[in-house]
Amino acid sequence: MKTIGILTSGGDAPGMNAAIRAIVRTAHVKGLTVYGIQRGYQGLIDGRVAEMGPRDVSGIINKGGTILRTARCKAFLEAEGRREAAQTLAHHGIEGLAVIGGDGSYRGAHDLYTEYGVPCIGVPGTIDNDIGGTDYTIGYDTALNTALDAIDKIRDTADSHERLFFVEVMGRHSGYLAMMCGVAGGAEAVLVPEYPPDYDALVASLRKGAELGKRSAIVVVAEGAATATEAARAVSEHSEFTDSRVVVIGHLQRGGVPTASDRILASRLGNAAVDVLLEGEEDKMVGWEGKEVLLRPISTAWEQKMKFHESMKDLAHTLAS
Ligand code: ATP
Repeated sequence: MKTIGILTSGGDAPGMNAAIRAIVRTAHVKGLTVYGIQRGYQGLIDGRVAEMGPRDVSGIINKGGTILRTARCKAFLEAEGRREAAQTLAHHGIEGLAVIGGDGSYRGAHDLYTEYGVPCIGVPGTIDNDIGGTDYTIGYDTALNTALDAIDKIRDTADSHERLFFVEVMGRHSGYLAMMCGVAGGAEAVLVPEYPPDYDALVASLRKGAELGKRSAIVVVAEGAATATEAARAVSEHSEFTDSRVVVIGHLQRGGVPTASDRILASRLGNAAVDVLLEGEEDKMVGWEGKEVLLRPISTAWEQKMKFHESMKDLAHTLAS
């Protein structure tokens, strides 16, 4: 293998740039030519491909977002879109592809492999930390700490005014990030997409907290469970908690300077992605499990979706007493 490509796809995640840097520089050291593909699979269809050298990735390890930009590409879901993408790869002589993204992006990589035989390696980059085959995804730690910083600030004002706050965090399909925000932020309750919101139980636990002398309460709401406004309205309609406040952290959670953990994870996994492509691996993902980089079939990402353990739900509940 002499030439590889890189793309970032799906939602951007802090640390993606560190992964791009690691891939470009490892490939350079190993004597490979590297092409950066802009805007994920859309760029592959549109032919937005440019060679990258080690100096093209200078000064990006500390930057959020992705210099390659990203996209959610509907055309790639169709066979014709994938045919055009495969043509672009062939046109540039790209013999292997590193795909940095979540499980949707991995499904796309799997299709490219099964339909066109393109060796693809997935590098887990999503703030959700919801895919199998890795303990952590690139961007999760930063997004968790960004939300936590906001929750800590909200707690100051919630305590001072003796108020109830509903704080909406990201998580359309997975409550992992929200659950960890709740545990780390000492939230009184967490609503996640995995369970339909039980507002009667929420009101009962808020009442219990007030009886036990709590001066304030924070309910973390994953966007896929409800909007914070819906949750606040539902609670106020059925209880005495009518004067709550709503904060939507939203996209603030995606951006920002990646934490040390995310930079190190991205550097390790980006480096490993090049090594395994050179070893002839295809249709696999690199992940971090326990204390080492491991290689798994790329389908592990969606077949063994990462879920928060029930024990975290119990922990959040117990510690909110
Ligand atoms: P995030 O976790 O941040 O949402 P993701 O990679 O899961 O990241 P998606 O929007 O699900 O994000 O997927 C990114 C892109 O991957 C899609 O826009 C589409 O182009 C491609 N993709 C997703 N699912 C498939 C599929 N089943 N087959 C082919 N391509 C797919």
